[in-house]
Amino acid sequence: YVRCIQLRAAFGLTATPSRAAHTPIRWYATTGGYTDRQDNNEISNIRLAVKDNIAAKGFQTTCASNILAGTEIPFAATIVTQLRNHGMEVVGKAGMDEFGMGTHSTTSAFESVHNAHPLEKYSAGGSSGGSAVAVKEGRADIALGTDTGGSVRMPAAYTGTVGFKPSYGMLSRWGVVPYANSLDTVGFLARTVQPIREVIIGSNLYKEHDSRDPTSLPDTVRSRCTIEREGYTSSGQRLETLEGLTFGLPLEYNIEELDSRIRQGWLQALNAIQTLGGRVVPVSLPSTRNALSAYYVIAPAEAASNLAKYDGIRYGKRDTNGTSDAQDGVLYARTRGSGFGNEVKRRILLGSYTLSSEAIDNYFIQAQKVRQLVRRDFDRIFKLDNPLLDEQHFDLSEMEESIGIETKLGPAQVDFLVCPTAPTTPPLLEHVRNQTPLDLYMNDVFTVPASLAGLPAISIPMDLSIDPASEEQKLLHFGGLQLIGQYWDDARILSVAERLS
Ligand code: GLN
Repeated sequence: YVRCIQLRAAFGLTATPSRAAHTPIRWYATTGGYTDRQDNNEISNIRLAVKDNIAAKGFQTTCASNILAGTEIPFAATIVTQLRNHGMEVVGKAGMDEFGMGTHSTTSAFESVHNAHPLEKYSAGGSSGGSAVAVKEGRADIALGTDTGGSVRMPAAYTGTVGFKPSYGMLSRWGVVPYANSLDTVGFLARTVQPIREVIIGSNLYKEHDSRDPTSLPDTVRSRCTIEREGYTSSGQRLETLEGLTFGLPLEYNIEELDSRIRQGWLQALNAIQTLGGRVVPVSLPSTRNALSAYYVIAPAEAASNLAKYDGIRYGKRDTNGTSDAQDGVLYARTRGSGFGNEVKRRILLGSYTLSSEAIDNYFIQAQKVRQLVRRDFDRIFKLDNPLLDEQHFDLSEMEESIGIETKLGPAQVDFLVCPTAPTTPPLLEHVRNQTPLDLYMNDVFTVPASLAGLPAISIPMDLSIDPASEEQKLLHFGGLQLIGQYWDDARILSVAERLS
């Protein structure tokens, strides 16, 4: 009960439950994309919006796909149960990209999400766009999203909210529809950092292992990671200064395509860090430039494998239109043809190809090597060791050679990396619709490295104090500042992010 009161305080709620009647929100409402509880019950607790690929009892779970339209999973995801136990009430399901595949929440089979009022013409980011808009518009106090390659951080950056992707394996994924298992994490969105820190660290959610999720870190490893961090970390307390902390400025992230306002905001953030007593040092992460390509090989490969079960027989809505069910091949093709949207089909084709015997060596295996190098780059610059790895077991020089990467790394001196979340401010939805898939994938260039390495990362609003040319420009003040930390350094990253925002 005390915990619940503390949490309510963190959300700015009074200790006495307010019994305000809850207005139902329409199915995939045009301002954000929600499905709402069918009953008209009163909401007295912390309001939680849940991305539509996470099971919540009493709600449909469609993953924004025709193939799962109308599906109601008869149990709640562990994370939803845990949050309900902490006094949260699910108020709606949030719109998303189909199966989490996209960057602007526009690949939904139902209705695209768009940015919060009055910026409806702009992208809300993806794939957890509905979750971001839900908190931005005040329909929820906190929202669950999923982050495979940036899907919580990108919408946070585009809507001026906070999006946190925890260390891989920290929060349970049981009851979350998988996209790419080796990358998927459950993440949180809120208007400020504090409620997220309160939920994950303050409520000890990060300590809870789930035996039903094989990727949930086991208790022994979990407590080892936590003990290793104790004493060193601030255990999630609010920080007054950043003294003693070193922030890395990854040089490879200063790409040509970076919007000048974002570059300016990034520099301002680095100045603010120094003013607060933090030290800023340039660092090099040479494998970064290959990370995006590796991600777009690995994620579609895992997706193709995951989505094979939606055949209209084992899972998914069967398309029986026309010919008889006996013609199995036809049934599969028809079901998957009408059930999946174009982006999902593209990923399935890509993934099936890169896993095929003729291509696996050149694509999938190479991408796995790049993934190791990306992780190694991070491990080399962070002060803290990666508690999951013993570097001596890996000799990556051969891999490095085969991929042609030149190493020029400094000493392990950094506590956190600071970089933009996205290269631009939110684009117009009209522009997004005309972009090629490759242009769309490019947006994820800053978010996928942390995903490949399984590291915690947060996006907080970046201060873009540029003289706005128009009223609209003034409103479009959204850029995301990303902080990336070593594995299981979640508590500290949240404290630092809170101090910086
Ligand atoms: N935009 C990336 C993709 O389409 C990331 C999506 C995600 O994190 N779910 O795969």
